Amino acid sequence: MTLIPGDGIGKEITVAVKRVAQALNTAIVWDEVVAGQEAFDQTGELIPQDVYASLDKNRVALKGPITTPIGHGFRSVNVSLRKHYNLHTNIRPIRVLGQIPALHRDVDIVLFRENTEDLYAGVEEQISPDEAHSIKIITRQATERIVRAAYEYAVANDRHSVAIVTKANIMKLSDGLFLKVAREVAEGYPQIETREVLVDNMAMQLVMKPQQFDVIVTENLYGDILSDLMAGLIGGLGLVPGANIGDDIAIFEAVHGSAPDIAGKEIANPTAILLAFADLLDYISLQDDAKKIREALALVLSDANNFTRDLGGDLSTTAFTDRIISQLLK
Ligand code: ATP
Ligand code: MG
Repeated sequence: MTLIPGDGIGKEITVAVKRVAQALNTAIVWDEVVAGQEAFDQTGELIPQDVYASLDKNRVALKGPITTPIGHGFRSVNVSLRKHYNLHTNIRPIRVLGQIPALHRDVDIVLFRENTEDLYAGVEEQISPDEAHSIKIITRQATERIVRAAYEYAVANDRHSVAIVTKANIMKLSDGLFLKVAREVAEGYPQIETREVLVDNMAMQLVMKPQQFDVIVTENLYGDILSDLMAGLIGGLGLVPGANIGDDIAIFEAVHGSAPDIAGKEIANPTAILLAFADLLDYISLQDDAKKIREALALVLSDANNFTRDLGGDLSTTAFTDRIISQLLK
C-alpha cells in the first residue's frame, strides 16, 4: 500500500493512520514515499519517480495533504496525480459524527465531483496583459461517467435521491451539456428521485436545510467549493475524507490542505485522514476493519473531552489517536 505522508500536518496525521492500522492488525504493509515540498527540496521534483513507481505497483494509496509552491511552473501535485492516473471520480462523504459542535445535525450527504475537466483542465490563454481566458471543458464521456457513478452508488447504498448541480441557465453549452447527459443517465434509474438544482441555490439550500440532500453530483469547480461549504456545516475541514477513483487505481486523502499554520504543533485533527483510511479499507474489501474505525471515531467524538483544538477541545493529535486505539481494543 502506498503511503504519501505529505506536507504540513501530513506527517502527524498519517502517523495516526499507521498506529490505527497496527492496532487493528491489518495485513497492510506500507510503502512510504515522499512527494511535495520535502521531495522538491531533496530532488527538485514535486513527484519523484519512486512515487509513480510505488503507485504503479500498488494501485491503492493513502495520501496526506501536499502543498503546491506558489509561483509559475508548479502544477498542483493533486491535480497532476489525478491527471496522470485518470482518477476521474472524486467522492466526498459529509456526515455529522458523534457530538461534534456542528451547524447542522443529521447531515449525511455524499458528493460526487467530476475530477478531470471543467475549469481545472488548465486551458488558459493570456490574450493581452490585461485580459486572460480560462476555457471550461465539459465532455459527454466524463459527465456520463461521474453521473453514472453517483447513481450506481445511490442504488448500492440504499440512497433515495440524487441532486444534479449545474449553472445550466447561464452556461447553456457547457453546463447545458452536463445537465442534458445527466438527465439521460438519470432515466436509467427510475427508482431514484432526481433533482436539478442550480449551484447558487444549492449553496443557500445547503446552509439552510442540508438534511434534504442525499447524493449530489456536480462538475469539478462547483464540487470543490460545495464540499468546503459542506465541511463547514458539519464541524470543519478536519472531518471530511475524499476518494479519487480511477479505473483500476484509487488514492484516498483528507479533503483539507497542509494547514501550515498548525503544522508541527501536534494539534491537527486526524479524523479526516482516518475516515479516508476507512474508505480505503472498504475499497480493498476489509469492510469489517473500516466499520470498526468509523464506530470508534463516532464513539470517541461523542464526548467533548475527546475533542481536538479545531473542535473546541484541547487533545493533541497523539492523545486523540490514543483514545481511538483504546476504543478499538475494547
Ligand atoms: P493548502 O495550501 O495545503 O491547501 P491551507 O492553508 O489552505 O493549506 P487547509 O489545510 O486547506 O489550509 O485548511 C484551512 C485551515 O483549516 C487551516 O489553516 C487549519 O487551521 C484548518 N484545518 C485544516 N485541516 C485541519 C485539521 N486536520 N485539523 C485541524 N485544523 C485543520
Ligand atoms: Mg486549502
